[in-house]
Amino acid sequence: MTSDAFSTAVLDWFDQNGRHDLPWQAHKSSYHTWISEIMLQQTQVATVIPYFERFIARFPDVETLAAAETDEVLHLWTGLGYYARARNLHKAAGIVAREFDGCFPQSVEGLEALPGIGRSTAGAILSISTGQRAAILDGNVKRVLARFYALEGWTGSTAVMQELWLHAERNTPWQRVGDYTQAMMDLGATLCRRSKPECGRCPLQTDCAAHAQGRTGELPAPRPKKVLPVRQTLMLMVRNEAGEILLQQRPPTGLWGGLWSLPQATDLRDAEAETGLALDLDSARVLAPLRHTFSHFHLDITPVLVRPGDADAVMEGAPRLWYNIQRPASVGLAAPVKRLLAVCQTC
Ligand code: SF4
Repeated sequence: MTSDAFSTAVLDWFDQNGRHDLPWQAHKSSYHTWISEIMLQQTQVATVIPYFERFIARFPDVETLAAAETDEVLHLWTGLGYYARARNLHKAAGIVAREFDGCFPQSVEGLEALPGIGRSTAGAILSISTGQRAAILDGNVKRVLARFYALEGWTGSTAVMQELWLHAERNTPWQRVGDYTQAMMDLGATLCRRSKPECGRCPLQTDCAAHAQGRTGELPAPRPKKVLPVRQTLMLMVRNEAGEILLQQRPPTGLWGGLWSLPQATDLRDAEAETGLALDLDSARVLAPLRHTFSHFHLDITPVLVRPGDADAVMEGAPRLWYNIQRPASVGLAAPVKRLLAVCQTC
């Protein structure tokens, strides 16, 4: 199949079957496209839609986002995960507002220089918002191309990535490039799904090598497995007389950077020394443990409900707040902390 035939088949399918009413398609500005593309990384469309709508309602343009407090940005991101995306989004907004007078760079290289924007996201922003010819290679497109060309190997490896980019660049048309970008993402998300792809409805079926070889179940090859190490921690749910839980802000970089979390300790006996908090350890009650998995390790969390020992001493030190579950503050919460706070309402 020639690259022309490839893009024509994909665009014809898009015209009939593509998604044309997603909220970020209403205004195909660089700003809207950028926000949606960042949210869609590792997250499905249905999940992203309400987050996108709330985000745009609060931050309608890049200047408003740049002027916002990081905490508020993280708060609106709570639940989407991968918080580095939100911090980078905020940083990039500041750069665009200050250094580019609110206008996004109009080249892949210029966009890639902004925090959190890679080559594929830059291609999506340019092609959708300006119609410039620029290729994309997000997770969905990787899967379509890896199957169509029956590429061996993990799609995250450098060698396979280089080959995928060659195909992605070559197949990108000169006309209707924004629609093509959207079409490829839709095709991967709705037909060429990870499991049970709907090859019978696919416009590429006649020339798809994985389909012809009966290998759609094994391509693309999964990431080589690695055994994740397990770390343990206690999370102290210090609850005062008013039923509020003590949260402290994480340092701006690193794990859960800038988010609000529960004080952590490795051993209950040393918890006061480790956290700098005064605790009534006789009141401590261990709750059901939970596991949170990061890309590089599992964190086994043992929550411990405990009363503060001395209210004055508790409020000293790193940024802290008493979190009222009934009237939650607008702060970004680490994902397991959000779950634990919900549990705490009934414990
Ligand atoms: S024919 Fe099947 S495997 Fe090939 S691109 Fe289409 S949906 Fe994916």
